[in-house]
Amino acid sequence: MTSESKYPKINEKIEVACDLCGYTETELLFEKEGFCHVRCKNCGLVYVNPRLKAHRDFQRISGTGSMGEDQISSAQISRICRELAIFTTYRKLNRILEIGAGRGWFLSVARDLGWKTWAVEINRDAISNLNKKGVKNIIVSSAEDFVVERETFDAVRVWDVVEHLESPVQCMKRVYGSLRPGGFLRLATTNFNSLSRIVNGPEWVYLNGSDHIILFDPVTITKLLKSVGFRRISIRTRSFNLRKKLYHPEREINNRGHPLAPFRKLIDETARFSKLGHQMIVEAVKDS
Ligand SMILES: [Zn+2]
Repeated sequence: MTSESKYPKINEKIEVACDLCGYTETELLFEKEGFCHVRCKNCGLVYVNPRLKAHRDFQRISGTGSMGEDQISSAQISRICRELAIFTTYRKLNRILEIGAGRGWFLSVARDLGWKTWAVEINRDAISNLNKKGVKNIIVSSAEDFVVERETFDAVRVWDVVEHLESPVQCMKRVYGSLRPGGFLRLATTNFNSLSRIVNGPEWVYLNGSDHIILFDPVTITKLLKSVGFRRISIRTRSFNLRKKLYHPEREINNRGHPLAPFRKLIDETARFSKLGHQMIVEAVKDS
């Protein structure tokens, strides 16, 4: 096998329809680093079109699936414990699933607190890390195609994942089916309608068309979850920053001279109380 056939051709692209509604008519918002970011004229979903044909292959071998810290601080463990306390309300079957478990810190702490854990993961480095950490029940699959018995889990966590997926709709259908009645979904993704994005425009740190191919906002993430059956949905947002180059640290722009820089912390606090923070945290409960 030559190195050329072993890896996908990274520049080949395909046209895709809107994942949320199937519509194909779009409005071009901007082009960044060769990727057109468009808005669906029917439902308002923002996505990259055309996108890389080998997007999913790229997630398997590279991408950001294994991103995260090699070491974790006691403060970070405390933060995970506080998050797991939110899940405790829903703990009946004692089974929890994380889609895109990455370094496996969340599931490791959950396991230490007595949860039976499952992980869906596609990235080979992440899978290796999960095995090393002794995380049980690793389902090697894309987030769109994983198979588990229906109504298995009390809770599913999907953290910084849906923006990477070819079909968040397919993923969420499976998540919904995998939750028991009354089960709990906790999800995080970037907010396209955030102050950070509006201020930075196409230079916004999370706009990286080879990797972040669907950009939700509070309206479109709600449409996604309602489309698969969730009715009880709550969304809050947090954080404002002026960083521009998450994926290209060598091109990181020093923002100290930015006119908004002195107010960053104040705006950050304000973002918590609005829907304008750059991280959306979404919680949804499946009807009993
Ligand atoms: Zn649409």
